[in-house]
Amino acid sequence: MGLPSKVNITEVCPRDGFQSLPEYISSNKKVDIINKIMECNFSQIEVTSFVHPNAVPQMKDADTVLKDIKREKNVSLRALIPNLRGLERALEAKVDKVKLMLSATDSHSLHNANSTTMEAMDNFIPLLDRAKYMDIKIAGSISVAFGCPYEGVVPVERLINICQRYEEIGVTEISLADTTGMANPVLVKEVVSKLYEMKPNFHFSLHLHNTRGMAFANAIAGLEEGITDFDSSVGGLGGCPYAPNASGNIATEDLVHGFEEMGISTGIDLDAVIEVSRLLSREFPEQSDSFILKAGKSKDLVQAPGKQVKMGD
Ligand code: ZN
Repeated sequence: MGLPSKVNITEVCPRDGFQSLPEYISSNKKVDIINKIMECNFSQIEVTSFVHPNAVPQMKDADTVLKDIKREKNVSLRALIPNLRGLERALEAKVDKVKLMLSATDSHSLHNANSTTMEAMDNFIPLLDRAKYMDIKIAGSISVAFGCPYEGVVPVERLINICQRYEEIGVTEISLADTTGMANPVLVKEVVSKLYEMKPNFHFSLHLHNTRGMAFANAIAGLEEGITDFDSSVGGLGGCPYAPNASGNIATEDLVHGFEEMGISTGIDLDAVIEVSRLLSREFPEQSDSFILKAGKSKDLVQAPGKQVKMGD
């Protein structure tokens, strides 16, 4: 199938997972979990988002969490930001990369950011001007890229226009998010191939929610079209505060296990991820779920049953 031999997985549980939890998690607990995630060999972790505390109260301690976590030299820390204020906080907290929040559709954007998609994009300009002189990388994102809960399927032409605008303001690394799990493999292939055709200089990644059990199939579809960067969340924790009934990202252990079984290296310590997932399932039993946590790895063989005892012997 011409699949790549290795992929990069960014762990997003500390942001996408935590922000969806109804109960406030203390800063200490967040730090403790992030430190454990840090030991699983991820090259990048999305540690938090610098949004207004009223918008996402769970992330109000982003600055404290960043101060207290144990940093590893070769782990890039990424944070999600909506605006210039978010960038200032991210700079202060010394994150390595920020990801810009943007919705594919105006209705999702108005609900999420109180502005249309293109207005939100215009608001990035002062932010990019500021970042130019600072030691921080910038990536873009497109939420609800494969379907919006208010508008349905997003025309690929609209995604191309958004990428065009991103390019004009100097951002060519884009995370395509299936925020509400509306994608399917045929749609993913169609969208990704079209985007790469129009923007061969871009670097696209996939952020897939498993709302309807399609995320792994969608990841493979993306892989076949040249995607090698994926987001996932330990224990499948996650959702979207602005997307009704959105469930979590594809569980990291399911994605890592699936890729490794296919001979595609992730560089991640799967057993360590499973340990963190087990911890999360004890802490947040309602919100965490994964196939591997329940079924174990394919390679975990069980002892064959002994000789069957014949009835009547
Ligand atoms: Zn998400």
